[in-house]
Amino acid sequence: MTKLNLAFYWAASCGGCEISVLEVHEKILSLMDKANIVFWPCIMDFKYADVHAMPDGFIDVCFFNGAIRSEENAELARLLRRKAKIVVAYGSCAAFGGIPGLSNLYPIEQTCQRVYATTESTDNAGQVLPQLRTECGPGMSLHLPALHAQVRKLDQVVAVDYVVPGCPPVAEQTWSAITRLLEGDLPPRGTVLGAGDRSVCDECPFEKKGTGLKEFKRPHMARPEGNQCLLEQGFICLGPATRSGCGAACLTARMPCRGCYGPAGDNQDQGAKMISVLGSLLDTEDEEAISTILEGVLDLPGTLYRFGLPAGTLKKAHPDSGLGTQNREKNHE
Ligand code: SF4
Ligand code: SF4
Repeated sequence: MTKLNLAFYWAASCGGCEISVLEVHEKILSLMDKANIVFWPCIMDFKYADVHAMPDGFIDVCFFNGAIRSEENAELARLLRRKAKIVVAYGSCAAFGGIPGLSNLYPIEQTCQRVYATTESTDNAGQVLPQLRTECGPGMSLHLPALHAQVRKLDQVVAVDYVVPGCPPVAEQTWSAITRLLEGDLPPRGTVLGAGDRSVCDECPFEKKGTGLKEFKRPHMARPEGNQCLLEQGFICLGPATRSGCGAACLTARMPCRGCYGPAGDNQDQGAKMISVLGSLLDTEDEEAISTILEGVLDLPGTLYRFGLPAGTLKKAHPDSGLGTQNREKNHE
């Protein structure tokens, strides 16, 4: 039997997607019977030169996780697109921009200043920021890839064949997507693999009772009571706007859905869908009362677009909106 050539790559990612592949446990051994791993820098010591040396189309399937934040991420996306017959946007950062995409609420200079110089745990008295080139001795210099002004999802840089959503994708769904691709069971291009086509509410153990929303609560401030829908209890739950497939993993632990499987159905904008859901649930039509209720949400764009700001209509905050700055100040209150 001819083995397929597989590649796994991480761009702007936390590494959770790489771990999620290993969460298939001993099944990873049967993967080795069917496929050669020809590139997986997180796991083995592959070099970019190895990929450059491959003929175009040499990789059968490339699972690409992480968003596109830097020139290095974009370069590798373009290289792997050339070398792979099938490119899969694996996980929510590649599929929708993910958590890294939230930095689109701020100008890149502000993000760098915050991350490298002013976090409470950073010891950087000289406020030194990363440089593209740093001289480090006679004839020696270090180079870092340039950061892009905005974070993008993978298909905003190269063509993507399939999407496997999740932050990270749950193991059963990862395995079903991998086996489907290995068996040559190829659905139409653009299909979302390893997920359902309904919303998280369809898999949720909580029950909707039709009561309106009077206030918002944060999960660390109150415990959900009984089996009433968490949204109706005032916890922001993105279940109605989020694709099913995780088995309502957070809800079964009595935590609201944060939206990591991305938009459900034809809707492409999770935040806009949630605004409409919240609007229909508010228990008042009085504008002042609505404003007071909404003030209970600490970080509205960060909450409604947690995993998909670059994929939504907004994509980024306007530089003059002060949106990100307001969020940061609120988070520090
Ligand atoms: S909104 Fe959340 S808690 Fe309510 S039914 Fe949907 S997934 Fe369950
Ligand atoms: S319940 Fe929501 S946040 Fe939790 S794993 Fe499922 S899609 Fe992701």
